Amino acid sequence: MEFELSEEERAFQDAVRRFGDKVLRPNERRIDSEGRIPDEVLRGMAELGLLAMPVSTDYGGLGASSVLTELAAEEIGRGDFSMATAVFFLLEAGWGLILDRHGTEEAKREILPEVCAGRAFLGIATTEPTGGSDLAHLRTTSTRSGDGFTVRGEKAFLSGVEEAQRLGGGHLTLTRATEGGFRFLYVPTKGPGRTTQRFSNMGRMGISTGAIGYDDAPVPARYLLGADGRGFEIAMEGFTVARTFVSAACIGAAERALETGIAYVKQREVFGQPLGKFEAIQFELVDLWTQVEAIKWQCRRAAWLTDHYLRSGSAAQRSEVQRAVAAVKLTAPPIAFECVKRVMMWFGAAGYTKDVGLELGLRGVMSYLVGAEGGLNIMRIILGRELLGKEFVPYK
Ligand SMILES: Cc1cc2nc3c(=O)[nH]c(=O)nc-3n(C[C@H](O)[C@H](O)[C@H](O)COP(=O)(O)OP(=O)(O)OC[C@H]3O[C@@H](n4cnc5c(N)ncnc54)[C@H](O)[C@@H]3O)c2cc1C
Repeated sequence: MEFELSEEERAFQDAVRRFGDKVLRPNERRIDSEGRIPDEVLRGMAELGLLAMPVSTDYGGLGASSVLTELAAEEIGRGDFSMATAVFFLLEAGWGLILDRHGTEEAKREILPEVCAGRAFLGIATTEPTGGSDLAHLRTTSTRSGDGFTVRGEKAFLSGVEEAQRLGGGHLTLTRATEGGFRFLYVPTKGPGRTTQRFSNMGRMGISTGAIGYDDAPVPARYLLGADGRGFEIAMEGFTVARTFVSAACIGAAERALETGIAYVKQREVFGQPLGKFEAIQFELVDLWTQVEAIKWQCRRAAWLTDHYLRSGSAAQRSEVQRAVAAVKLTAPPIAFECVKRVMMWFGAAGYTKDVGLELGLRGVMSYLVGAEGGLNIMRIILGRELLGKEFVPYK
């Protein structure tokens, strides 16, 4: 067993932390108020190789492991407390890897180098206005038509709808094949038969959330991922990968909150002594830190297991990785939210102001409590199924 990061991993982690300190922190308020990630920030990420970093070098990525990507996600979540940059990063990392693993050669050559260079956005479209948890009953259809497919229906609450219009790009879109099974298609956002709508969110303002309507939207055959009819399994593989990166970003945000809190309670004097001397505060800090530390290592292990599973594809490892990933996705967002909330309270009234900036983190992390990449109860259902057996899944 080896818990030490390799020299290469540590150097990369340091580089991303420096990027977070020098580029993301100074821009986070602007990212929140302007509602977009500035072009120079995306350019900086591309130069460091952060965009879609697990994509193989043949298509412009770093060919990074899930472990290295997890480390980067921690630093980006710590750097841009609003979580917008983390969301942009992890969507492209997770779903870029899935396109690399299951896309056609033609599609990969066309799309991935653009995504890795920051000239196109790549996201995921599974959720529909009728729900995001019960994906087996989704309603958007795709039908074979000429050389390709047509898509009909609506996807909602999608991250990056506006970015895919501005930069170019699109979403890996899970559809019900009218001929049977599920079809996972890359659907460029711009094109005939598409209409888009932007939603008004409460947080992570620097990346849009919106809906896309498809009215017999044509999609070329080269944009099909994997075998026709087997799209559901591929999408689930993508969630396994992306949920670890979500959790890592939450760990970064939790650590940022605690670091902010530690600096504050050491210097804020109340009743004639620093706030941090009161056990009520000190013990709360210790309890939060202990939980964050445990979940961080659980998260890194989930990434390590994911790397092994993606290489082997073994059924036994699939179960192990699903447990590990669901467990961190169940615990990382709530602990991050709790850290930000508690530290806000240590700041007293100042914590409620925008000057201190903790509300950025509170609004951003909340998106991962609500459900992006799967709600907390869905993680509980996955774990219940893994621990008790399929017959205990509480729905048809
Ligand atoms: C900021 C943000 C960004 C997002 N980005 C994307 C994106 O890029 N692409 C995309 O496809 N989706 C995206 N989503 C949608 C997200 O994946 C869904 O919110 C999530 O899957 C839950 O779906 P839902 O919101 O329709 O809630 P529902 O499925 O209606 O569920 C509502 C609540 O009930 C709980 N629940 C559901 N089923 C059960 C059950 N059987 N037992 C107990 N509890 C249950 C859920 O956990 C949830 O809390 C995003 C969401 C947010 C908030």
